[in-house]
Amino acid sequence: MKIALVGNQNSGKTTLFNYLTGMNAKIGNWPGVTIERKTGTVKGTKHTITDLPGIYSLSPYSIEEDISRKFVFDDKPDVIINIVDATSLERSLYLTTQLMELDCKVIIALNMADLLEKKGIEIDTKKLEKKLGTKVFKISALKETGIDELVKEIDNTKDLTRTKIYDEKVEEAISKISDEVSKEHKRFVAVKLLEEDARFKDEENEAITSIREELVKNYDTDLEEVIASQRYSFIEKAKEECVREKEAVETVSDKLDKVFLNKWIAFPIFVVVMFLVYYLSVGVVGSATVDWVGDNMDAFKEWVGESLENAGTSEWVNSLVVDGIIAGVGAVLGFIPQLIILFLCISILETTGYMSRIALLFDKLFRKLGMSGKSLIPFIVGSGCSVPRNNGYKNY
Ligand code: GDP
Ligand code: MG
Repeated sequence: MKIALVGNQNSGKTTLFNYLTGMNAKIGNWPGVTIERKTGTVKGTKHTITDLPGIYSLSPYSIEEDISRKFVFDDKPDVIINIVDATSLERSLYLTTQLMELDCKVIIALNMADLLEKKGIEIDTKKLEKKLGTKVFKISALKETGIDELVKEIDNTKDLTRTKIYDEKVEEAISKISDEVSKEHKRFVAVKLLEEDARFKDEENEAITSIREELVKNYDTDLEEVIASQRYSFIEKAKEECVREKEAVETVSDKLDKVFLNKWIAFPIFVVVMFLVYYLSVGVVGSATVDWVGDNMDAFKEWVGESLENAGTSEWVNSLVVDGIIAGVGAVLGFIPQLIILFLCISILETTGYMSRIALLFDKLFRKLGMSGKSLIPFIVGSGCSVPRNNGYKNY
């Protein structure tokens, strides 16, 4: 049997993969991209297993998501093991709701079970199984617990009946569109057709268009938004019913999260953080270094200009060297200290995890624009380009 390991980044896919395969992983590249593809054999069985890149959804917002989706459609795994970080169930279940729409067997591995007690989280796996309509196992890939039962389940060809998670109108449209779909994974494709996902437009026909248009009339926003919000409310309910969080000892990181990711102040804080980054790089370091480099460059230009004149070079050579080359290089040199500080700040924000958290927070907003929350980072780095323009040029 062919198994695919699917889950968010850092959910423990590779740890489980290495345990299951006993490290005899074959490593190859996914065609066209530089993301590693690992396939191996599950110890003591004939199952092949593939470690897919970390994703948050199966929508085509990133290369990783595209690869994972292609794998599901083209390589046709028999079983998908959805690895979920049990300590942050809510964030992980969005992907699960999409996997639940596929026609292959899905098993959920609630990983990091060893951390649950410490964090004061109790998860009722039986309830969650019922809620989702997929088998759920608590495991710890690191402590190597619970994995035997998970592996046994792979051979169990019986699957539970998947839960339908949308409201009646959407479900009705999905079931009508499913009848029109010729590809495998009819329910998944039907949802994608409602979302007008361009990658499935070869399945589009008049009947589907009219079912969709009929449904659109019921809602104010577009269907992609409707579907996403119904997924989120299903997840919220599932969490309410199946997860109990005791007064956990709050870690420092939890406390910081509460402040930095608070619904109301996260954005103002983000603005302040970005302002500080710019203030440091452009204000403090910028004004000092740009002036300093500028002054030195002026002196250097004068010296070179005089030397060239004394050497008797023609005026255009003189101008080329002084106003062209030296001024040009100097213009760039002046910004380098600020850019170093800017990138230093950004990398500090990245290593402390602030960037990835804020990206998650912006995800919903960016999705409306057809991008992922990760687009925030190129946005910020991109806006860094205005740093030299705003500040430096006046010196040259
Ligand atoms: P991937 O990005 O999904 O491949 O995740 P990795 O396998 O690289 O794991 C990410 C991190 O989580 C690593 O530091 C692992 O050691 C850790 N990790 C994985 N599984 C567990 C687990 O069951 N319990 C704990 N406590 N940590 C785990
Ligand atoms: Mg990995």
